[in-house]
Amino acid sequence: MRIEEIFVSLQGETPFAGIPFVFVRLSGCNLRCQYCDTPAALHESPLCRLHFPDGETTLPNPIPLESLRPFLQPFAGYWLSFTGGEPLLQAKEIETFMTLFPHFRFWMETNGTLSHHISSFLLENIEVWSMDIKLPSATTKNLWESHQHFFSSLLKAKTIILKVVLTPTTPIEEMETLWQIFQEWKAQRPDITLVFQPMTHNTHVLTGKAFFWAYEKVLATPDGSLRILPQIHPLLHIP
Ligand code: SF4
Repeated sequence: MRIEEIFVSLQGETPFAGIPFVFVRLSGCNLRCQYCDTPAALHESPLCRLHFPDGETTLPNPIPLESLRPFLQPFAGYWLSFTGGEPLLQAKEIETFMTLFPHFRFWMETNGTLSHHISSFLLENIEVWSMDIKLPSATTKNLWESHQHFFSSLLKAKTIILKVVLTPTTPIEEMETLWQIFQEWKAQRPDITLVFQPMTHNTHVLTGKAFFWAYEKVLATPDGSLRILPQIHPLLHIP
């Protein structure tokens, strides 16, 4: 498996923010988002960095998964997030990882575009799918159809959280399209949550027209399916 880094910190996004997680950041991504905050993970690094509370070390990539056992064993029972980059580029390796280290609660952080990489094994064993919605203004690509396929493949997933990053220049027309799609998806999975995540620059949460559009929607939706939540780790100065 090609891994950029493994570290322990707090979940910084979604309604799970503040819970301790082991993060496994896989190398490589099929997108290039304008606001990407993990540029180092877009390419394959020769070394994987491991940062744990009792020290740091590096291992050469690709990592033989068994060599991670001594580092991961103390965290059995924790949530473990596969993040990136785009982790589903290494879906088969993730399945091997989960088989070797079954004592975690698994979370998949994905850009929601690689539907053909979702297997029944992943659907059964991942507890939470955190699926990004990438707006055309963020990627210069129209990914609605790709997201539609991905969501259809996720219908049997245990928990689905959708997340969209709002920048000061996000167009309202894209929010309207998102809203229409969210209504269709919610009709199929009434338990989904949509998190509007205003972009953070250093420690400043940036707002704009799309933020205030989302704010109005959240105020008008009492069932808790909509949230506005900024990333907490830049605000707390933690990784
Ligand atoms: S999908 Fe994620 S890792 Fe890939 S470019 Fe976009 S923000 Fe960066």
